[in-house]
Amino acid sequence: MAGATRDSLGAMPSRRDARTYDLKDLRDRVMRESGGAVDDSIPQLAEADPELLGIAIVLPDGSVRTTEQADVAFSVQSAVKPFLFALALLDTDGEVLDRIGIEPTGEAFDAIKLESGTGRPPNPMVNAGALLTAAVVDGDGVEGRNERILRGLSAFAGRELTVDEDVARNEHLLGDRNHALAHLMRSEGTLRISADDAVAVYARACAVLVDVEALAVMGATLAFGGVNPVTGKRVVPAAVARDVVSVMATCGVYDGSGRWMRRVGIPAKSSVSGAIVLSVPETLGAAVISPPLDEQGTSVRGSKACDLLSAELDLHVFGSLGD
Ligand code: GLU
Repeated sequence: MAGATRDSLGAMPSRRDARTYDLKDLRDRVMRESGGAVDDSIPQLAEADPELLGIAIVLPDGSVRTTEQADVAFSVQSAVKPFLFALALLDTDGEVLDRIGIEPTGEAFDAIKLESGTGRPPNPMVNAGALLTAAVVDGDGVEGRNERILRGLSAFAGRELTVDEDVARNEHLLGDRNHALAHLMRSEGTLRISADDAVAVYARACAVLVDVEALAVMGATLAFGGVNPVTGKRVVPAAVARDVVSVMATCGVYDGSGRWMRRVGIPAKSSVSGAIVLSVPETLGAAVISPPLDEQGTSVRGSKACDLLSAELDLHVFGSLGD
């Protein structure tokens, strides 16, 4: 079991079972963690309850296990990026891969930087990349793409999702760095719709309301090869899910991605709302929400919850520490 120590007889404690794992106890232990600051880029995020903590896991048979507050709604923010990438891969039949890199940046989520030499966004998990993936999904104009994205995200979640229109408006109005990135991509010829339309579509995708239960199902759909384990419906082909989870593994936690992969070892995506979505291939999907963030923009308590889940359920994708 990863992270576990041998007892006095040298035996490893037995691996815990996700079906009976005590999520309430996990939540209580994570609650003791402190530190971090709530994002203040828009008023709705600044007003988030710093004590909110919800955790959900989704198992291969589609059963969903939750803690209290797993039904509290929040805007998905950057946790939408893996799903935008999935929809872009699907709708362009993979052609989007010619227009976007898949290398980690080692830089902040909104760095004003494109791939040198090509002018492409560095990867789909940073803002430049997500502005592009949102812009290439099927649909006419801003409205059509918004509809396509909401329908696609709802299929991942297995329920009808809605948009917080105030968050969408503020993200659009106050996202100066996103406008800058969109203009930069226009100047390089990588973005083919207007900069303002690209920001509008991306802003609305960030403003989709989820709770950790929905987000965990979304993560599980990627983990289980593109089939939603709750509805049993295929949302994307297995090849698309594999591409997305691969890029979550290398780029999902921005400039903390390398450390995250070594420590937690689970493909994940963080977001400024304090959510983290996890996809453990063929094993489980999970999500955590806790708004206070560390310097890399990752939820402090969320990160702790992922550490514990990984160690205690033996989820590190590169293997156990024990024998
Ligand atoms: N709406 C945010 C932005 O684009 C999302 C960033 C994040 O969650 O990391 O600025």
